[in-house]
Amino acid sequence: MQFQSGLEFAQRMDREDPLASFRGQFSIPRTSDGAEEIYLCGNSLGLQPKLAREYVAQELDKWAELGVKGHFDCEHPWMPYHEFLTEAAASLVGANTDEVVMMNSLTVNLHLMMVTFFRPTETRFKIVIEDHAFPSDYYAVESQLRHHGIDPEEGLVLLKPREGEELLRQEDIETLLAAQGDSIALMLLPGVQYYTGQVLDFERVTRAAQALGIVVGFDLAHAVGNIPLQLHDWNVDFACWCTYKYLNSGPGSVAGCFVHRRHAENTGLNRFAGWWGHDKQTRFKMENRFTPIPTAEGWQLSNPPILSLAAIRASYDVFMQAGGMAPLRQKSEKLTGYLRFLLDTEVSEFIRVITPEDPQQRGCQLSLCCDAKHLSGRELFERLEAAGITSDWREPNVIRIAPVPLYNSFEDVFRFVQILKSACNE
Ligand SMILES: *Cc1c(COP(=O)(O)O)cnc(C)c1O
Repeated sequence: MQFQSGLEFAQRMDREDPLASFRGQFSIPRTSDGAEEIYLCGNSLGLQPKLAREYVAQELDKWAELGVKGHFDCEHPWMPYHEFLTEAAASLVGANTDEVVMMNSLTVNLHLMMVTFFRPTETRFKIVIEDHAFPSDYYAVESQLRHHGIDPEEGLVLLKPREGEELLRQEDIETLLAAQGDSIALMLLPGVQYYTGQVLDFERVTRAAQALGIVVGFDLAHAVGNIPLQLHDWNVDFACWCTYKYLNSGPGSVAGCFVHRRHAENTGLNRFAGWWGHDKQTRFKMENRFTPIPTAEGWQLSNPPILSLAAIRASYDVFMQAGGMAPLRQKSEKLTGYLRFLLDTEVSEFIRVITPEDPQQRGCQLSLCCDAKHLSGRELFERLEAAGITSDWREPNVIRIAPVPLYNSFEDVFRFVQILKSACNE
């Protein structure tokens, strides 16, 4: 794709964009003077689909009008409500419907998955994560090690970029695995690294680890709704994700979980149990013998928060109306490619992009380091904010910019770079 500078080009791209009308389905936040913000923060909190209000209101009405009967004979009864989400959830991560379930929150699901999939022995007891893992993942892993009586000093293996580099190299991961493989029980990797925006080769890294007897899980917080995923075919053991980032389901909304079919069917696996994971036919017999559902649903604990699931259902409906991940990704590659082009042509003397240039190795987010002598990254971020741009700042020196194909336009990207440029020159 040949990009051009100038506003006309951005406007032409928007006119020719088959997904352009989806922006109108979202509420775009406004600045104090009433103008629409340039919202480039969907990696942190996705915007509200207008449909969410409608679907949540339906459930509030049902509760008001039917009380407990809302669980059964009505439209979208609460009892199987999570099942209405399964098909879209599965398609977004490249799974079969028996491999996914919406439940709990992300960190909770990571713990539940580790209860099942981190079963350390005398000799195989380590967990591999990346050095710059999201703090919650780090805490979860560290506390799981301690829970099994393993000192993280011995049990936690960190993948680090090479000295002076920011990104992980695939071959370095493989070297590390080959060196310590016998002692590693589990590897937990990000789908899209939250700080750098890097995407690893899922299939290759999964195969390399599994060949050494290592279980492989992914945290897809920044990947789901952002890049195409094929969890089943990649043979990933498990994965967890939240839905409030690219899945636009509202702050703190219910999360998703994938368990590969070969495990999901295995009702003998160790797990923490609750009644919602119990066989649906006999759940209400209240006999205290736990029979797990032989799908990912067998890891559910509680009956889920319906108001949150209603917002997710609204979001999924928007994704499905847009045609799912394939057309969204097509636009995303152009939109982020255009951002990259403008950054390289307009502000390269001040801004260094640490996210890989190859679209296969990134999602929509670009991570910008400010290298200007006269201006710190934090100051630059604040100038952007004052000019009506919502992005986000991550210590020590990154501004994350995530143009989202569902609601961001090429003009958003154009205007952002113009503002960035004048902020750098100020
Ligand atoms: C956003 C994010 C989280 C947040 O965890 P919650 O349990 O949803 O609060 C965890 N890990 C990663 C990698 C994230 O990006």
